[in-house]
Amino acid sequence: MSQKYDIVIIGSGPGGLTSGLILANAGYKVLILEKHYIVGGGLHNFRRKGVNFDTGIHYVGSLGEGQVLNQLYKYFGILDDLHLQKLDDDCFDLISFGGKEYKLAQGFERFRETLTAYFPEEAKAIKTFVDDICTITGEEELYNLRLPPENPKPYNEKIQISVDQYLRGLTSNKDLQLVLGSLNSLYGGKRESASLYTHAFITHHLIRSAYRFKYGSQELADILAAKIREKGGEIKLRQEVTGFEYDGKLISAVLTKSGERFETKNVISSTHPAITLSMIEEGRLRKAYRKRISSVANTFSSFGLYIKLKKNTLPYINYNIQEYRGEDTWGVDLYPKVQFPEGYFACTTMDPQNEKMAETLLVITLMDYNELKKWEHTSVGKRGEDYLKFKEEHAQKLFDFLERRFPDIREQTEAYYTSTPLTLRDYLGAVEGSMYGLQLDYRMPAKSFLPVHTHIPNLIFTGQNINLHGLLGTSMSAIISSGVFVDLRQLITDIRNA
Ligand SMILES: Cc1cc2nc3c(=O)[nH]c(=O)nc-3n(C[C@H](O)[C@H](O)[C@H](O)COP(=O)(O)OP(=O)(O)OC[C@H]3O[C@@H](n4cnc5c(N)ncnc54)[C@H](O)[C@@H]3O)c2cc1C
Repeated sequence: MSQKYDIVIIGSGPGGLTSGLILANAGYKVLILEKHYIVGGGLHNFRRKGVNFDTGIHYVGSLGEGQVLNQLYKYFGILDDLHLQKLDDDCFDLISFGGKEYKLAQGFERFRETLTAYFPEEAKAIKTFVDDICTITGEEELYNLRLPPENPKPYNEKIQISVDQYLRGLTSNKDLQLVLGSLNSLYGGKRESASLYTHAFITHHLIRSAYRFKYGSQELADILAAKIREKGGEIKLRQEVTGFEYDGKLISAVLTKSGERFETKNVISSTHPAITLSMIEEGRLRKAYRKRISSVANTFSSFGLYIKLKKNTLPYINYNIQEYRGEDTWGVDLYPKVQFPEGYFACTTMDPQNEKMAETLLVITLMDYNELKKWEHTSVGKRGEDYLKFKEEHAQKLFDFLERRFPDIREQTEAYYTSTPLTLRDYLGAVEGSMYGLQLDYRMPAKSFLPVHTHIPNLIFTGQNINLHGLLGTSMSAIISSGVFVDLRQLITDIRNA
């Protein structure tokens, strides 16, 4: 008979680890089961030729003094252990389209002034945009570490406003619309369905402050994991959860592919909701519930190019670059196949021996999962020669496009590696390699917003599909999900006062 846990958490991404530490801190006997051989989910790094590559967290907002992630990490007692690199105040993201470039600055005043210098006639529209995103995010209790209302609404009505319609109503200046809408790529937003609410959060949390993990985001995963163990929690790797045992209506044990069985009083799942539901046997859930969750579309997937640079060839760049081939900052996922890539996100990491120079250049562009259908039934390392050829062809197309900004990039490259939507599927359990999980849609708010409670009373959701993705979104979701087991108001008070 295996040991009985209070809470088994499925997945060790930022959602699972943050929930795990909150609950271990509160005295619960926690076990995290992770299918990968390394902790971290989107936080995990891989290492090649002596250098680290980030996979799913390249920069993060709201880590500044008093802001939500800063307070959370103070509360955990780990803030001082993290090596954080603040991106340039006058430019955290360089947006480039149609031969024009715009800097997005940190701090609301500087953001406004920088954009007003590009668009002097649009000063009023820019101010209104900043005021509006501050109002929308200002109303969200958790984001501002205020106590939640006794009877919270299932979702904020602001989600029912289209960001595209909002931007078109704000200004007739097309370039300004595109600049203010450009961070849609950070949540997989589509022009026809993206909500002002999501857009406001993603934009606001980065203008508030934008950081990257100087030595890679694995550091955060390792530190969270160590703290969980210190508090008596356990983490087991290479344990893919496949199903449950029940006692009446409640889950009583979690079963893994390797044949192990872990008795538990509760389960928190951070995996994609459709994957979690596939672990539950037929007959235990209403068909309509399964159908509702499986019918929500997923955000698009991506192709990654991870470049190890030759030493001292490319200066370190303390901002990210969002480059678009055409005159649009939306719809990169709609690339015509002959013109891959339609755009990219690029960032460098510092060479620890010479911080002025870059050690790696990471480039991400969107890719349709359907292009990989042919290899859908293959697994890592066993996809065949034609798959390797596909990856190489796409890497070369990306290099061609990169050369516009980095003319010597091929000569500066010592080695490079690539990832496809299948890599994301197989390493993260991401359905169809989706980057950010479920696609939020302003036209269907009730369908897009998933409550933490499921139809199994002791099974709770957490992770990027609750409310918002990214390190910010999953940390907030972890607080909400943990609130099922701890006094949420006290937890928020403790985080605020840390
Ligand atoms: C290419 C890319 C770039 C991104 N860039 C950024 C960025 O710069 N900043 C940012 O904030 N966000 C970024 N994101 C989003 C961010 O990575 C995710 O929102 C975040 O990692 C989600 O965290 P999570 O805990 O919900 O899930 P994940 O991090 O996906 O973790 C889920 C974990 O569950 C495990 N798992 C899955 N199925 C099982 C199972 N059956 N049994 C056991 N374990 C299982 C997986 O292996 C994984 O470790 C990016 C995402 C991608 C794909």
